Amino acid sequence: MSQSFTFQQIGLVHSCYKQKFGIPRQPGLVTEASASIELLPPFNRLDVLDGLDGFSHIWVHFIFHECMTDNWKAKIRPPRLGGKEKMGIFATRATHRPNPLGLSVVEVKSVRKEGNRVFIDIIGADLLDKTPLVDITPYLPYADALPNAKGGFAPLPTTLKKVKFSELALDQAKSYKAIYARDLVPLIEQVIGQDPRPSYLVGSENRNHGNQLWNANIKWTAKEDHFLVTQIEYPVGEQHEQVENAERL
Ligand code: SAM
Repeated sequence: MSQSFTFQQIGLVHSCYKQKFGIPRQPGLVTEASASIELLPPFNRLDVLDGLDGFSHIWVHFIFHECMTDNWKAKIRPPRLGGKEKMGIFATRATHRPNPLGLSVVEVKSVRKEGNRVFIDIIGADLLDKTPLVDITPYLPYADALPNAKGGFAPLPTTLKKVKFSELALDQAKSYKAIYARDLVPLIEQVIGQDPRPSYLVGSENRNHGNQLWNANIKWTAKEDHFLVTQIEYPVGEQHEQVENAERL
């Protein structure tokens, strides 16, 4: 009989991804995605990170907390196969696992302390906002980088799809940058360029889609050979201040 174990959360993720739709399938695919890991008490101390400055990347061990109520399945349909074929759960990186543990390698940008809060700023995460972490370990190139390893049915994803912006969307992105000091354009190009649509919608044109990045709702339409971002909506004025205050918590 197998045993059960209990883990303590050591941190949580603050990321631009507020919903699962649009998050890339693996880390490193959207390099414009900035995020931070906040270490939670009693781990909110800099000495737990002593020596980390010599490492460019870390492994983030996390909980697929938005899948906790779903049951695991022995076989699943990986999106990479267009949803047509089933593979064994342990041959995939699917989120619906017997234990909802995820593992992502991300680049470390900086470590900062603000009062009694400790943050690790990271690049290229594939993590939903508020994802709970159970461990952080350094990435060891001599052991973890295996250039001759085979990628099974999940080889390197193909090139990004072209993303175009309407004049309105470009104006809105410009105003957003002025208010929030974030450039949405390259982030949107990478996120939507991955084609986050479910496999049954790939190939269907002129359909409207929407996804949220930070506090902006991005509206876009699938065209024959590109995606068109039509509108970018976000809170302004008093609403903006409320959002900023909420994000600080
Ligand atoms: N790199 C990790 C791994 O291999 O374990 C995650 C791979 S998983 C295929 C990536 C997907 O996990 C993303 O597209 C996103 O939809 C989902 N995801 C990310 N964070 C999540 C969370 N906290 N709860 C549930 N799903 C999450």
